[in-house]
Amino acid sequence: MLLENLSYVEVEGYLSEKDIILIPIGSTEQHSPYGLIGTDFITAEAIAREVGKRMDILVAPTLPYGMSQHHMAFPGSVTLSPETFILVIKDLINSFLSHGFNRIVFINGHGGNINSVNVAFEQLKYEGRRGIFKLISWFLLPEIQEIEKALFGDKNGLHATPSEISITKYLRPKEFSTKAHVEKNIEKIETYWPLNKDEFKKVYPDGRMNSAPWLAKEKYGKLIMEEAVKIIEEEIRHILKMKIL
Ligand SMILES: [Zn+2]
Repeated sequence: MLLENLSYVEVEGYLSEKDIILIPIGSTEQHSPYGLIGTDFITAEAIAREVGKRMDILVAPTLPYGMSQHHMAFPGSVTLSPETFILVIKDLINSFLSHGFNRIVFINGHGGNINSVNVAFEQLKYEGRRGIFKLISWFLLPEIQEIEKALFGDKNGLHATPSEISITKYLRPKEFSTKAHVEKNIEKIETYWPLNKDEFKKVYPDGRMNSAPWLAKEKYGKLIMEEAVKIIEEEIRHILKMKIL
């Protein structure tokens, strides 16, 4: 069920029975020559919408921009500053709270978003807001990391991973005819974090972070996405049982 397709009358009807909403968030940032710039929001959106469909739960429009400052040396990348991103997350939550949603779950596709989203949650609690604010980053689910290990060994890396590229390949196969395919060496580089955009490009010149995106396959994407949806469904069932204090 997509919020964008309902009328406010239908939202009122939904709120008489349920108080949960899923919000997909991601980023618009380079994913190496092998992957789509929209990878992070495309994966989060597809997973959230599938969960919403199976559980009859409302899914809000996707937030396609996130905190991506370290990717800004690559054209096409867009970033919100951490301050802006925190305020956007707070405004989204406050909007949904004001209508009676009490369980606000962000389905996240981008690691760079995590710190800011957690600061937004803490700030809202500091301001006295009631309710459950939850961040689920699909790529950090332990079950997903096990599958990645089985499929890609130590070549999944941290960015432009064959895992996320596989999901986008499954969802948008036609877009890959123009992307790189050639295998390269993976240099494991020890460095510090965070990096600014120039530091990032020095350490990771083609935008990958220790990953082998050429290993991505549609069938892996289908498998990983199905598993992420199943695990998140369980997590949502758990959230639905919790009492709002
Ligand atoms: Zn990504």
